[in-house]
Amino acid sequence: MATDHFKNIDQARPGRYVDNIENKKLHDKGAGTASVLQYFKENIVPKLAHSTGPNYFGFVTGGSTPASLLGDQLVSIFDQNAFGSHDSIAPLLEHQTIAFLKQLFDLEESFDGSFVTGATMSNFVSLAIARQWAGEQQGIDVSQDGASTLPLQVVSATAHSSSIKALSMLGIGRKNWKNIDTIPEREAIDIDKLENFLSSHTQQSVIVIANAGTVNTGDFDDLLALGKLKEKYNFWLHVDAAFGGFAALSPKHHHLMQGINYADSITIDAHKWLNVPYDAAMQFTKHKKLQGKVFQNTAAYLSDASVSPDFFHYTPENSRRWRALPTWFTLMAYGREGHAEIVQRNCEAAEHFGELLKQSTQFTLLAPVRLNIVCFTLNKEQVSSQQISHFLSLVRDHGQVFFTPTVYKGRPAIRAAISNWLTDSNHMDKAFNIVQEVIKKM
Ligand SMILES: *Cc1c(COP(=O)(O)O)cnc(C)c1O
Repeated sequence: MATDHFKNIDQARPGRYVDNIENKKLHDKGAGTASVLQYFKENIVPKLAHSTGPNYFGFVTGGSTPASLLGDQLVSIFDQNAFGSHDSIAPLLEHQTIAFLKQLFDLEESFDGSFVTGATMSNFVSLAIARQWAGEQQGIDVSQDGASTLPLQVVSATAHSSSIKALSMLGIGRKNWKNIDTIPEREAIDIDKLENFLSSHTQQSVIVIANAGTVNTGDFDDLLALGKLKEKYNFWLHVDAAFGGFAALSPKHHHLMQGINYADSITIDAHKWLNVPYDAAMQFTKHKKLQGKVFQNTAAYLSDASVSPDFFHYTPENSRRWRALPTWFTLMAYGREGHAEIVQRNCEAAEHFGELLKQSTQFTLLAPVRLNIVCFTLNKEQVSSQQISHFLSLVRDHGQVFFTPTVYKGRPAIRAAISNWLTDSNHMDKAFNIVQEVIKKM
């Protein structure tokens, strides 16, 4: 089944909409594994979306490198509980994987890190540590006393929705997030406007969520300028670099991540541009002690958080999947060069697609291609969201390429995010031919 799947991945339908599936009753007697596999193959597989292939450009979606897939299967076969080093070397290998990743992203030694399920959880953990920090600024131990009395303000220019969700989960509240303007025609924060805010809010604790790779256009806040501001003002700098962190691997885009080491906490996804299977992301911070205060899990039979190398004192989970292993496999198998090649090839493909759209009369490129995201729209008067979703459902049903919709600066638009290890410029030629063919049907 796996061999067939990979042989045909280039032709397999990338996106699919399934309205409903039959709601079965739980059997009293089991059917047996072989027969369930047969049922799965016949009834479920034909309805799957092949988002792991090279023609899926929705959201920001990676596939899985062969090495990471092997690692992922071994995670389940050996089924280690990577919570602490009481009886397994799994956590030690996770520490080693984090050390590899720090080298990959040029992060300073002073960062510690751990694996969580995704960038959302990484943002959550980072903001939980930031909240503990904010409490200490005000003489409040949030881990003991709660956050209800904390004078705290969270600011960002183009924050990902998951950070705002994290504010709700953390009891900080969505309303305590304030939007700072972007530079005109950009999604990057206006540093002067941020400085105005900081200079007039010195009595509150401030958390700045910087964006290194916005989902619409792959735009970056100026991390060096934010670092400079940190020399003048006291604030927590969280950088959401879920996919943008990989700019560090491309000589042409490396400058976008300059200043990353000013961060107090960083989010980077593995299941997007590192191309490992769901679910995996990394959380990095320079404030491990604060992290331990938030997440420590003390019980008589467990270790003491103040001295512990155990992950369950630093992450939301206690029992933990050996989530680092697919990443360890892919980094060991392909090295920095292998992964840099994927990033650069994807960026070239994005640039190429951007050029094709720019030269066409039917489409408008809405922003320069800065990394691996192409944001465009139909070249019609007053394009509506309905027109975009009609166009995208025609593209999806055509069956060979898949994009997702967005709204950019008030304009209904389409995004192509190129982050699959198999995708190159030829796939973008094919995608361009398809969108040209489909728009004629509208
Ligand atoms: C995808 C993404 C997230 C959320 O990541 P999940 O892995 O889906 O939880 C957060 N921030 C940015 C910038 C993203 O691209």
